[in-house]
Amino acid sequence: LIELRDVNKHFGQLHVLRDINLVVGRGEVVVVIGPSGSGKSTLCRAMNRLETIESGRITIDGQPLPEEGKALAKLRADVGMVFQSFNLFAHKTVLANVSLGPVKVRGLKKEDAERRSRELLDRVGLADQASKFPAQLSGGQQQRVAIARALAMDPKVMLFDEPTSALDPEMINEVLEVMQQLAAEGMTMVVVTHEMGFARSAANRVVFMADGRIIEDRSPDDFFTDPETDRAKDFLSKIL
Ligand code: ATP
Ligand code: MG
Repeated sequence: LIELRDVNKHFGQLHVLRDINLVVGRGEVVVVIGPSGSGKSTLCRAMNRLETIESGRITIDGQPLPEEGKALAKLRADVGMVFQSFNLFAHKTVLANVSLGPVKVRGLKKEDAERRSRELLDRVGLADQASKFPAQLSGGQQQRVAIARALAMDPKVMLFDEPTSALDPEMINEVLEVMQQLAAEGMTMVVVTHEMGFARSAANRVVFMADGRIIEDRSPDDFFTDPETDRAKDFLSKIL
């Protein structure tokens, strides 16, 4: 579904993505872990063209990423993204946050978009919050709205960049449960997270990054029981 070939990216002198090769198949859940600054966010952002790359190729369903205009808006709908900071529209209701994109980008009628948005809010456990504003919700609730908003676009793949890092501990599970359920339903997902329980139970593969490179790409069982590299061993000893 998504394929990265020999992808490279610098920020000035800093080489943040080095010869990245990664294939994410349909229905796969790939968890990306690694130390701070290793390039995890940049990798995610490159996949929906929030960052450009300097060399290499990124394709989705065999098509190169579009560069601008309507095609780029469609790409961002096809490749849904959920960030650490929920990035909801503060002055719009929960229902509007979820239903606006499908009207604008997918061309749905307002009432159809709203009906589907209510279904999605129900799915993430927020059916009764549709008319509230983001500031009236907890962090965990806001993040579930952000997930529903991305899902409303009917994405081919969902990218999650540390979706629970900004949450109080008691709210982490309600978000992880929604993600677990999505994974079980067969959604293709790329998830940057420090939640190793999620990685163990939901991931098909764990990708370990350090210094802009992918240095391990293996099943969670193999990775957690027997990491190949000292970098990964060192990282795991610090977080587990
Ligand atoms: P973290 O775990 O802290 O989120 P990360 O693995 O997601 O880290 P990235 O955010 O991808 O790392 O950043 C990789 C490197 O690129 C870091 O050294 C970062 O400081 C640098 N960087 C990221 N974005 C920019 C930018 N817009 N301009 C300049 N440097 C950047
Ligand atoms: Mg990051």
